[in-house]
Amino acid sequence: MIDDFPAVDEEKKIGALIKTSLVDFPGRVAAALFLQGCNLRCPYCYNTELVTGKPEDYEAVSFKQVIEHLKKRASVLTGFVISGGEPLLSPYLPRLITESRGLGYKIKLDTNGLMFDRLERIITDPELCPDYIALDVKTSPDRYADLGGAHSPAGQMSAQNKIKKAVELVSSLPPEKREFRTVLVPPLVSRSDIDSIAKLLPQDASWYFAQFRNENCLDPSYNDLTPYTEEQVEELIRAAKEKIPNSVLR
Ligand code: SF4
Repeated sequence: MIDDFPAVDEEKKIGALIKTSLVDFPGRVAAALFLQGCNLRCPYCYNTELVTGKPEDYEAVSFKQVIEHLKKRASVLTGFVISGGEPLLSPYLPRLITESRGLGYKIKLDTNGLMFDRLERIITDPELCPDYIALDVKTSPDRYADLGGAHSPAGQMSAQNKIKKAVELVSSLPPEKREFRTVLVPPLVSRSDIDSIAKLLPQDASWYFAQFRNENCLDPSYNDLTPYTEEQVEELIRAAKEKIPNSVLR
């Protein structure tokens, strides 16, 4: 156990489990765990119960139940996705990684990268380094203040610096072990934001885009926002491809 992750209660409900997923881990049939809690409050987030609610608000599972499921399905599944919320917030993360790895699973971590110190600890520890990391880059670094949340307490590194450092760190992994993700939310991701994100990413990045869905958003005013048209999405991805050839709409 690494020092800055406290001890855990194996019976406590910690998040939502998708028992079998074909879409969350490239090339693998996986289980996907969405851990409770997040340090951001992206206005377009549709995981409201996970971010602001309590495990009683949805069908939550405990650490013990997750491990039992992974043991039971070890002959069928090959991947385990740890997502959120923000999984680096969770004290359960190191044990989820070591125990699932001990069962033979490849591990994918989805993160917003803003708990930079923990991300660095995980990546630089061979026992804890995930087999694949998906890092969200939500907008230009200088616009991270537009995303709410408790990601930048006074006196600590700014969110702007954290996301830049997180991109740099994840970029140091081999290309087949990482991807970058951006949701095309009109007020947060314009053509100029695409250009400034592209400047941060390595040339060999896999950069995956998702269309914004105006339903069940954390900030209800985003439910009234019109998503980009198909043509606008194509144009933004064309602009991304000029800098990062493997830019793709998912
Ligand atoms: S990082 Fe943003 S989109 Fe992701 S779970 Fe947290 S609030 Fe939602």
